[in-house]
Amino acid sequence: MDPYSSSPAVTIIGGGMVGTACGLALQERGLSVTIIDAGDERDKASFGNAGVISNGSIFPMASAGIWKHLPRYALNRDNGLRIRYGDLPFLAPWLLRFMANASTTRREQAVAALAPFTATALSYHQKWAQRTSSEHLIRQEGWLRLYRSAEGFASSAADRLLLERHGVKFDVLDTQALRELEPAIQHPFHRAIWLTETATVATPGELLLAYQQLFQQQGGRWVNDQIQQLHTAEGYVQLYGKQQHYKSQTVVLAAGALSAHLCQQLGYRIPLVAERGYHVSLPMPEGPALRRAVYDVAAGYVAAPMQDRLRLLSGVELAHPQSRANPIQLERLYPAAREALGLAPTMDTSQLWSGNRPSTPDSLPVLGFTPRHQQVLCAFGHGHIGFSTGPITGELIARLICREHLPVDIHPFRVDRF
Ligand SMILES: Cc1cc2nc3c(=O)[nH]c(=O)nc-3n(C[C@H](O)[C@H](O)[C@H](O)COP(=O)(O)OP(=O)(O)OC[C@H]3O[C@@H](n4cnc5c(N)ncnc54)[C@H](O)[C@@H]3O)c2cc1C
Repeated sequence: MDPYSSSPAVTIIGGGMVGTACGLALQERGLSVTIIDAGDERDKASFGNAGVISNGSIFPMASAGIWKHLPRYALNRDNGLRIRYGDLPFLAPWLLRFMANASTTRREQAVAALAPFTATALSYHQKWAQRTSSEHLIRQEGWLRLYRSAEGFASSAADRLLLERHGVKFDVLDTQALRELEPAIQHPFHRAIWLTETATVATPGELLLAYQQLFQQQGGRWVNDQIQQLHTAEGYVQLYGKQQHYKSQTVVLAAGALSAHLCQQLGYRIPLVAERGYHVSLPMPEGPALRRAVYDVAAGYVAAPMQDRLRLLSGVELAHPQSRANPIQLERLYPAAREALGLAPTMDTSQLWSGNRPSTPDSLPVLGFTPRHQQVLCAFGHGHIGFSTGPITGELIARLICREHLPVDIHPFRVDRF
């Protein structure tokens, strides 16, 4: 088919959770949609994440507390955060902006922007899960933040107040209550925060695939190509792929961590880096199985049951999206996870994965029309919450294009805020 002969109403660059959900929401409004995606499934952040869909995922990465721990972070002594110093020339401007967000005021502003956004994340997933008969992949049993010491738990006081302020339900568990709820946890954690309304997905890749299949069954066009350039002309956008050229009336940039260079071609400089994360898929240990995802705050890992396996996920490695993977954080956190969860003596790395969280310095996504090109919209930069908030993002993008009322204030997410 001659790619110039058809001019689809909307073309989405990127077929991860965000791009796919944009496609579904646009189709629902009767628009003709094409998704152009470069990678295979495992290249997507949407494939290998922890599958947590939480109304409590409202906290930006930057906080006033970071200043106190700066030397520790700068020396890569904290397992939760590693800086890829080889990528420092690329990272430095982003890091400066990130530190400018490390204040209580900025944090509370970000929380206020994210709370209504994440509050609706689960209901939009449930809608698409129902339409794809995938409800069984979503369990709503909450998730747990685990604290090893009284001091660690005390440092969560401000976050607990913010959760309460924004109506996020949680329970605080002591060592015994945690043991009763999750017999699989062997370490005597001092306290746990149980975010009771949270859902988890087993497995994220399967849910994404179901959404992608629905998109295609409904007549959506899926093209494997990598868009290298784009420019706008009167009434359409021209896209130059590795394989072909395309044109479209409207384009949505949803290319995850690789979105910034496409945006830059239109003159918008968006500070976007990869908060790289790693996972290793392990056999479920003997004994009672872990029922819900847990975040061991001090040790810096998340463990999530994924059907009959356990997915162990690392914290953040700040990096260039295209720099080589280095799973050193997983190696360092493994002893703590092994002791807490009764894992095997050595880490089986046969099923290792890494992916890029597309991250802005204020931890807010970039959503909406580009200011000077009304045929181009941005839908990227979701950092730690893009799997859960993909469907609400799709809804917002579709409503913007169709000039409908928006259920969430997206002003804090505007493209020209940097
Ligand atoms: C370890 C880890 C744990 C996480 N846990 C959670 C969690 O529990 N809950 C949660 O909500 N989020 C979580 N996240 C974050 C979440 O995975 C991401 O925010 C989300 O997947 C981003 O989705 P996306 O569609 O924007 O990007 P992606 O899923 O990365 O998809 C982007 C797509 O765009 C394509 N693309 C890029 N450039 C081009 C181009 N030029 N042309 C065509 N296609 C292109 C890529 O090939 C890719 O397929 C986690 C992330 C990691 C790494």
